[in-house]
Order: sequence, then structure tokens, then C-alpha cells
Amino acid sequence: MNIALWLDRAAKAAPNRSALGHGQAVVRRYGAFGERAARLAGALAGFGLVPGDRVAIFAKNSPAYAEALFAIWHAGLAAVPVNAKLHGAELAYVLEHSGARLCFVSGDAEGAAADHAPPSLERLLRLDGPDFERLCAADPVPVSARAPGDLAWLFYTSGTTGRPKGAMLSHGNLLAASFAYAMEVDPIEAGDSLLHAAPMSHGSGLYIMAQVARLGVNVVPESGGFEPDEIAATFAAWRRMSMFAAPTMVKRLVAGAPDFDPEAIRTIIYGGAPMYVEDARAALDRFGPRFAQIYGQGESPMTITLLPKSEIADGDHPRWLERLGSAGRAYACIETCAMGEDGTPLPPGETGEVVARGTPVMSGYWRDEAATAAALRGGWLHTGDVGAFDEAGYLTLKDRSKDVVISGGTNIYPREVEEVLLTHSGIREVSVIGRPDPDWGEVVVAYLVGTAPPAELDALCLSRIARFKRPKDYVFLDALPKNNYGKVLKTELRARDRLRTGPGGTP
Ligand code: AMP
Repeated sequence: MNIALWLDRAAKAAPNRSALGHGQAVVRRYGAFGERAARLAGALAGFGLVPGDRVAIFAKNSPAYAEALFAIWHAGLAAVPVNAKLHGAELAYVLEHSGARLCFVSGDAEGAAADHAPPSLERLLRLDGPDFERLCAADPVPVSARAPGDLAWLFYTSGTTGRPKGAMLSHGNLLAASFAYAMEVDPIEAGDSLLHAAPMSHGSGLYIMAQVARLGVNVVPESGGFEPDEIAATFAAWRRMSMFAAPTMVKRLVAGAPDFDPEAIRTIIYGGAPMYVEDARAALDRFGPRFAQIYGQGESPMTITLLPKSEIADGDHPRWLERLGSAGRAYACIETCAMGEDGTPLPPGETGEVVARGTPVMSGYWRDEAATAAALRGGWLHTGDVGAFDEAGYLTLKDRSKDVVISGGTNIYPREVEEVLLTHSGIREVSVIGRPDPDWGEVVVAYLVGTAPPAELDALCLSRIARFKRPKDYVFLDALPKNNYGKVLKTELRARDRLRTGPGGTP
């Protein structure tokens, strides 16, 4: 079944209900949203595109983004959303690799896209202005039939190492992820709203479809970005508003939105990177029990484990703090466990690679058989994340396997050290890496934002974790290197660290 049918039905059943919002205003009702998507699909078909062809979107968030997505599916095509902050050269790689025939661009991204368009790209289409309006006035076409396994979204990974890979998400995968979200993370009633303050090309965009199925309103901040005061004002203007936010965004709201009324929030869903316990507590103190956590990756979109709102709110639970530091437990549609190196599931408490299988999991990477075989070996998605499940099924994520520090033959998980350092009031952000060392193989080094005497940080670590996990060096920076999704780039930190210390590793 084609996921575009959700919009088609909403347009017929509830044409006057609000569908898309921009800032504080309704810009499209379901009737108009559905009609424009059907007409835009007609325009795409008119360009000679046939079901299965790929269409990229290189644009910042806007209501038209949702129109383009649904039009692409309506015509039986596959969407290739690309983060608008990528460099033109990075966009060129995705366009070429995906074989996209068309690319929608927002005005601010048009120059970069035009300069880097590969020969395989036939057309750039503006996602705003008179040209877009003309496309939305073409003759409508009916929804193209699609099977559950047909490609819907080519989800390029954020590529914290090497080239991004295109996770192939089918209509069936998106359906499963949408059901999982609306059933377990944040149930939606008609008229509820979701603010897209994080990129629609990534996690936030994956929540668009469930709103449509449930007649919710997809709203984009007027600036298209993340300004804490604007977010606060937008929440105040809509009914029962929720939002997906990376942990860094939650931190910015805690620190920088004094007028944000917690009562205006239905749910803030965080995930995509570790939420440290200290930060989660600060967020709860400021906004109350209005948070849910999700853990997933492009390969199983937003859907491996979740820590529901009710459990984050349950401060009286004897294991509350421990659970706050976990990524929750498996979604109903997923089987997940920690796997040992020999490919067998590990018992509770033991640490291994997190693997998952179930209806949201991708069928493989686009045009990359080797990476597909490696990621899906044995029928399990190998996430590259290391973690342990407890006997109740809660997953504590340690780190990406490549970020584990091995010192004197013992594994040290950076997150554990980071959690401790963040409890110091002078420390705002921290990232722990391994530095090559002739005696130990690697030693622990902490990169920090904030101020604190190293002796105090040492004492803090000695009071909370084993002596050998204590950083041997503390390096203060103005900011940590992050990618376009706000994820800390440990690879870059390690490279910088090598420059500081020289190839031998010793400072
Ligand atoms: P992406 O495919 O770009 O969304 O990145 C997915 C990766 O982000 C996962 O494999 C994890 O390493 C990390 N991640 C996602 N959600 C969480 C979470 N709740 N806690 C910690 N790390 C997370």
C-alpha cells in the first residue's frame, strides 16, 4: 500500500481540517494539501518520471516540503531528502549515487545545487514561488499503486565516518515506523500539532506521515530553524503541540527560552544522540514530565527502543534514574538484543553490539551490496552501537563500537565518563575519546566546554568510576565539533587530538 493514500483519504474525509502550519498560521487545510499533492504528482509524471525513479529534496523546512514528499509518493516515486546544510559537493555525491532525476530546492539552496548538479540530474525545481505554484496547478493523477516493499525514502546516513550510505526505506517500513510512533511514543488526536524544528530530511520528517494519517497538523517554524524564543511562541499558538528535538536542542530550550510555558507542550521527543542524565533532569525540572525518548537510526527509522513519557515522568520508581540513563525498551514491532561477537544473543547485563529486526528495518543500502551484507548479516540489522539490556529489557547504550576506548586491554565506554564529568557545575559539554599511548594502547582524554580545575574533575571521577577510566588529559574548547545534525564528531576530535600530540600520541 502506498503511504500517499493517507493524504488522499484525509483530503476527502476532512477537507476543512488544518493540515499544514507556518509559524502561527494555518497555510493549508487537508483538502487543499491533498489536491496540491495530486497535481504536483501529475507535474512529476509529466516530466516523464516513472514509478521507482528518485526525486531529491534539498531544502530547509517548509510546509511545501510535506507537499513535495506526498506528491513524490503519490506518483509512485521515491524521495531522497538531503539535509539543507550539506555542502554542494556532498549534495552532488547523494544526487549522483541515488541517480535522482529531479531535485526540489528552496531558494537559499538553489545556488549550491545548481553549481554542483551532476549530469544525471535532469531538473532543479524550486519549492517556492511562482514556478512551484504552476506545478501545483497541473492536472492531477490518481495515487500510484505501490507494494509494501517498494522504495519510498532513500535515507542517507549522516556519515560521521566516510561517505553517507542510502538506507532503503519502503512504504512498509514507513508505515511500521509511523504506527510505532503513534501507538507508543505520542498518540495523536485530530487537531493535535507537531512542530518541525529539526530537519525534515531526517528524524522529524519521519513523523510527518503519522500526523496525516491521524489528521494532525504539521507545523514549521516561520524561520525554518531553531530559535528558542520562536519555538516558545509557536507552541503557545497551537493546540497540544509536540516536537522532535535532538538533546542539544533540548539543552538550548532549557537555557534560552525563559518565556516558554510548559503547559503548551504535549510531548518533546528526544533522541538521535545521547541524552545525559544530568541534562534530562534539568529538562524535567524546567518543563515537567513532558518528554519521551526514542532510539533508532536511519536503517530502522526512529524505531528500535523507546522510553515512554509515563516512565520518564515516574520519578518515584526505584530504578527511575537508571532508566533515565537508558534508551528504554523495544518497540512492539521490533526484536532487539545485544549480540556477542560469535553472533549469538547475550544474556542480560552483558555488553555487545545492538542488533534489531522487524517491520521498520530497511531492506539494505542503495547500490551497495557489500555494506548491505555486512549490516544485515544473519538477518539482523547491526547498528554499530554497543549496549547492554537489563533483565527487564531496558537498553543502556554505551557508545558506537568504533568510539570505545581500549586502555590496557580493557574497554572503556566514553559515555560513562562523560555522564560523570557533566555533573560538575562548570561543565556544559563533554566528549571523551581515546588517545594512542605506547604503554596502554590508548588513554582516556576528555574534551570539554566550560571551566573547571582538572584536579576537581579528577576527584569527581575518582568518587564515581574506576580509577583507570579517569581522563589522563582534559582539553578545553570553545565548542565541540558537530555535524549538521548536532552529533559530536569524535572522528574529528581524534584527528585534532593527533595534531596536538603528534603521531606517537604522547603530549
Ligand atoms: P542516524 O542514522 O543519523 O539517525 O544516527 C543514528 C545513531 O544515533 C544511532 O546509531 C546511535 O548511535 C545514535 N542515537 C540515536 N538515538 C539515540 C539515543 N536515544 N541515545 C543515544 N544515541 C542515540
